[in-house]
Amino acid sequence: MIPYGKHSLDGQDIASVVDVLENHYLTQGEMVPRFERALAEYCTAKHCVTVNSATSGLHIACLAAGVGAGDWVWTSPISFVASANCARYCGANVDFVDVDESHNISVTHLAARLARAKVENCLPKAIILVHFAGNSCDMQQIAALTQPLGIRLIEDAAHGLGGEYQGRKIGCCQYSDMAVLSFHPVKSITSAEGGAVLTNDSELQKRLLLLARHGVTRDPDAMTNRAPVDQGAWYYQQQVLGFNYRLSDVHAALGLSQLGKLDAFIARRAQLASQYDVLLADLPLKLPKVATDRKSAWHLYMVQVTGNRQQIFSRLRQAGIGVNVHYIPIHLQPYYRQFGFKEGDFPQAEGFYANALTLPLYPDLSDSQQQQVVAQLAKVLGEQ
Ligand SMILES: *Cc1c(COP(=O)(O)O)cnc(C)c1O
Repeated sequence: MIPYGKHSLDGQDIASVVDVLENHYLTQGEMVPRFERALAEYCTAKHCVTVNSATSGLHIACLAAGVGAGDWVWTSPISFVASANCARYCGANVDFVDVDESHNISVTHLAARLARAKVENCLPKAIILVHFAGNSCDMQQIAALTQPLGIRLIEDAAHGLGGEYQGRKIGCCQYSDMAVLSFHPVKSITSAEGGAVLTNDSELQKRLLLLARHGVTRDPDAMTNRAPVDQGAWYYQQQVLGFNYRLSDVHAALGLSQLGKLDAFIARRAQLASQYDVLLADLPLKLPKVATDRKSAWHLYMVQVTGNRQQIFSRLRQAGIGVNVHYIPIHLQPYYRQFGFKEGDFPQAEGFYANALTLPLYPDLSDSQQQQVVAQLAKVLGEQ
């Protein structure tokens, strides 16, 4: 089976993990701060706090943004459930904003919804923006709407590492408060499991650090009261209710080694995507489009089919092509339906989902494997 996505590991990645196992601390050593500095530098953000998954990162990003019980948080219905769950962890209410042709939150819908929420006095505390498939949201336009209202912007950049918007890397936080990355094996780079939160705001960085590390600090300058004179270097304080969301040094070593190859991974993904554009041009499909001021990280190559999607999907799977579907709209999940969401609430998202098909795309996919995918797809579509 040719999978839809897959990590790409080499001997250097393996050696860097073995080196940590043989010679270094397994956790709280040097690898985590080195990985954090390298990520911040790559994305051109000021600060980076690594965590054990993007889901953890989204949770503490919401908390750092002040999201709490009774607040509203908005996100895209076309995403993985973690984009919404993070708000629920904080006791907040979730609502969604429908997508546009780019499959990202629609700026037009957002403007209308904000105007209504302002009148009804129920503006969201934060909005979680998803750069779907690695293609950036229109950050400048969105920030122009939300900044005057004091709404926090959190980027769920799990698909976006290596992509660009207006000539800057996704994750630079030029228009947002924080951006969250994932290093799950199908994402741009992997640390097996892992994630990171980027920010340019040093107050947010301090809160994120505390929240990810038990709420505990050892920094003498950060103590809430002066430590009594007889207390020594062992002294630490728990200041908030934090979590153990630390990334280990073993995972950070793998992530750091992978980061060195990120540009090559993205270049190969982009090459495969443009080859798909050519190879699929004559088939009855809608192909993904990326605006000229953006470079997608090409996490996914999604097409929209005409015909019986379920049949197309299962025939391709039978032929060894690991197609997939991203995503079942979050508001239609049983967990979210209990809050009153139903079919028809977000027609663009639901219409997209009805015909969406994800084709295999990852750096190690060979040209001949790609041709195999296209040939099988052409055959199956011909039978429709
Ligand atoms: C993968 C993914 C996540 C969760 O990432 P983890 O690191 O597995 O927790 C969150 N949001 C989106 C959009 C994702 O694709």
